[in-house]
Amino acid sequence: MAAAIKSATLTAKPADGPLAAASLVTTILKHCGSKSLEELYESVRATDPKVIAKLSGMVVTEDQFELIESYGDIVAHLRTGPTTSIALCDKCGKTTVITGTPPKKCALTLGCEGTPQKSAMATKTPVVADVSAETA
Ligand SMILES: [Zn+2]
Repeated sequence: MAAAIKSATLTAKPADGPLAAASLVTTILKHCGSKSLEELYESVRATDPKVIAKLSGMVVTEDQFELIESYGDIVAHLRTGPTTSIALCDKCGKTTVITGTPPKKCALTLGCEGTPQKSAMATKTPVVADVSAETA
């Protein structure tokens, strides 16, 4: 009997922009039990077997890596326990790091009437690998 391969793909919410990058990073951090990207990188460098096993269970596409990289300066501020999120203003496009619910009105730009939107967890979809050897 083949061992079960547990892995999952990620779908960011929303699909693009800084909130999507934050969505992916927060989900990866929580999955790996890391408090920040810095801590996650440190665990990988130290070849922590638990973290590497968890990380290898996440299928992150090249596009998703590029997205995370392109917002690297923002997602570096994300934390878990307590969890921080990114809030993005829908009018002025500025971002800030928040805990809890986003403010109802933008306070990032003077006079802006935008409503900040908060990053959410990405959806994990299990990868069904058909590794049955019944064709033999
Ligand atoms: Zn704004």
